[in-house]
Amino acid sequence: MIIKKFKNKSVMATESGNTIKGGEFVIRETKYQDVFIPEEFDEEQQMIRQTCQDFLEAEVNPNLDRIDEQEEGLMVSLMDKAGELGLLGVSIPEQYGGFGKNFNTSMLVADVIGAGHSFAVALSAHTGIGTLPILYYGNDAQKDKYIPKLATGEWKAAYCLTEPNSGSDANSGRTSAKLNDAGTHYLINGQKMWITNGGFADVFIVFAKIDDDKNLTAFIVERDFGGITMNPEEHKLGIKGSSTRQIFFNDCPVPMENMLSERENGFKIAVNILNIGRIKLGASAIGSSRAVINQAVNYANERVQFNLPISKFGAIRYKLAEMAVRNYALESASYRAGQNIDDAFDALVADGMEVGKAKLKATEQFAIECAIIKVWGSEMLDYVVDEGVQIYGGMGYSADAPMERAYRDSRINRIFEGTNEVNRLLIVDMLLKRAMKGELDLMGPAQAVAGELMAIPDFGEEDDAPFAYEKKLLANLKKAGLLVAGAAVQKLMMTLSKEQEILMNIADIIGYVYVAESTLLRAEKLYHQKGAEAVDAQVDIARIYLHSAIDKVYMAGKEALNSFAEGDELKMMMVGLRRFTKAEPYNIKEARQRIAKRLIEANRYDF
Ligand SMILES: Cc1cc2nc3c(=O)[nH]c(=O)nc-3n(C[C@H](O)[C@H](O)[C@H](O)COP(=O)(O)OP(=O)(O)OC[C@H]3O[C@@H](n4cnc5c(N)ncnc54)[C@H](O)[C@@H]3O)c2cc1C
Repeated sequence: MIIKKFKNKSVMATESGNTIKGGEFVIRETKYQDVFIPEEFDEEQQMIRQTCQDFLEAEVNPNLDRIDEQEEGLMVSLMDKAGELGLLGVSIPEQYGGFGKNFNTSMLVADVIGAGHSFAVALSAHTGIGTLPILYYGNDAQKDKYIPKLATGEWKAAYCLTEPNSGSDANSGRTSAKLNDAGTHYLINGQKMWITNGGFADVFIVFAKIDDDKNLTAFIVERDFGGITMNPEEHKLGIKGSSTRQIFFNDCPVPMENMLSERENGFKIAVNILNIGRIKLGASAIGSSRAVINQAVNYANERVQFNLPISKFGAIRYKLAEMAVRNYALESASYRAGQNIDDAFDALVADGMEVGKAKLKATEQFAIECAIIKVWGSEMLDYVVDEGVQIYGGMGYSADAPMERAYRDSRINRIFEGTNEVNRLLIVDMLLKRAMKGELDLMGPAQAVAGELMAIPDFGEEDDAPFAYEKKLLANLKKAGLLVAGAAVQKLMMTLSKEQEILMNIADIIGYVYVAESTLLRAEKLYHQKGAEAVDAQVDIARIYLHSAIDKVYMAGKEALNSFAEGDELKMMMVGLRRFTKAEPYNIKEARQRIAKRLIEANRYDF
C-alpha cells in the first residue's frame, strides 16, 4: 500500500482572494497568482507521480503486445496490482479504503497513467465512470457495500450508457426496467454497446427507463445477478487491449435497493459523471503525448539521413517544437481547471455541503473548462501522434515501432466521453445558458465591445510591465470572441442553436482563448517565481501558442461573421475582428527553433 503512507494535502486557496467562477475567463482577466501550475505539485504528489511511472515501466510497458492480444487474465491482474499499490483509490475518501486525495492529484494519476495505452483506458473507466456514480450518488449502504471493493480493485467496474440506437443522444436509450410482481426487483431488458471493461467487470452502472419514463434511471448491477450475456470482444482500430463488449440484459433481476439516486435521475448522473471523465481524458492525453514526444525526439536524434541526424532539419524541428508547445499548453489548462475544481469543492464543503455533492457541484461549475480540455486534449494528442509517425518515417508505419500503437490508440479520445462535436456544442450552450440565467454577464461586455467598434481606437499608454503586451493581445482575443458571439446571438436569436457551424467557430474561439491564457499565466507565474532567465523556454511556448491562437481566432471569427452578416455591418465587424486579432510581427520560427534546440539537447521533454 505505497500510497497509504502519504499525508493529506491542504488545498491552495486563491492568493489574490478572488473567487473564480467557471466560464468567467471569457470576460474576466485571471491573475497569475490564482492559477495552479504543475511545477507546484508537492513532494507527496511527486511521489504519487513516481509510483505511477514506476508501475507503467515495470508492469505495463513490457507487456503492451500481450495486453493488446487480450491475453487471458492479464488486464485483470494488472488492475489487481494497481489496486494493491493504491492507484485505484487515490481520490476515494479514506472511510471507504481510499486515500482521499484532492482532484488535481487524481488528474496527475490520469496524466501519468495516460501513457499506458489500453491499460490506461481500463483504469480510467473503472476509477471514473465505473466507480464515481456510486461514490457521488449512492446512499450509505450502497457506498459501504461497493466502494471499498472498487477502491482496492477487488471488484472491477463498467458503465453501460450507450446503446446501438442511442449514442450522443444518450437519453434516448430503450433499455427498460420493470418492477417484478413481488415488488422486490427491477427486471432489466435491453442491449448496451461499446462497454469498456465489459468482459471482466463485476459491477455495471446500467442506465434504463422505468415503464414509460422520459428520463433514464441508473442501477448498480452485479454480474452475478443473472440475465446478462455478452457478445465477443469488439475488433477495434486501437486500444485493442481494452475490453469492449456488447451486453444483453434479459430479465436481469436488480434488487430495488440497487437503484442509484432517484427514479429518472439517471441522465443527470450520466452528464455529471461525464464532466469528470472529460477533464480526466484531457489529463491522460498529456501523459500519452509526453511519451510520444520523448520517443520522437530520441528517434530524431538517432536517425541519420543526408549524413545528419534528422533532428538537424528545420522541418523536423518545427514538428518537435510544436508537439511540445501544444502539450505544455494543454498541461497548463488542465491543472489550472483541476485546481479551480478543488477550490470550488473546498468552498462548498466549508459552506456545509456534503462531500459527494460538493465534488459534483464543483465539477459542474467548471463544466465548460472540462469540455474544452477534453476537446483540446484529444486533438492535441492526435496532432502529436500524427507528427510522431511522420518523424519516424517508414518506421512510423511499422507495428514493431511504438508510433503505430500510439497513433491508433489516440483516435478514440475524440469519440468517447461525448464526441468532440457534442462537446464543442456544449461549450457554447453552457456559456449562453449561464448568461441567460444571469450567472455570467456576457451581454454587458459584449455591448461594450460593440460600442468600442464605433469609437476611435484607444491605443492607451505603453505598458512595459512583464507580459503586459501579451495580456493585451489576450484581452483583445476575448473581445474578438465577444464580438462574434454577441453578434451571432443578436442576429440569429433562437435559430443560433441550429447553426452548428457557427457554434463550432465560437467554441474554437473560446477554447483557444482559455488554453492560450492558461499557458501565459503559467509562464508569468514561473517568471515571478524563478526569474526571467530561468523561464525563457516557457515564455517562448506561451508566445508561440498565443500567436497561433490569434490566427485561429481570426479564421474562426471570419468564417462565423461571413456566414450571418453582410454589407456595411459585416465590413464594420471585420474591421473590429482585425483590430482585435492584430499583433506586432513575431518571429515564431525562431521561437520554435529555440524550443526544438532545448528538446533535442535534453533528448526528452523537460519543460
Ligand atoms: C472503444 C469505445 C469504448 C466506449 N466505452 C463506452 C463505455 O464504457 N460506456 C458507454 O456507455 N459508452 C461507451 N462508448 C460509446 C461512446 O461514448 C459513443 O460511441 C459516443 O458517445 C458516440 O456515440 P455513437 O457512437 O452512437 O455516435 P453517434 O452519436 O451516432 O455520432 C456519430 C457522429 O455524429 C455526430 N453527432 C451526433 N449527434 C450530433 C449532434 N446533435 N450535432 C452534431 N453532430 C452530432 C457525432 O459527433 C459523430 O461525429 C465507447 C465507444 C467506443 C468506440
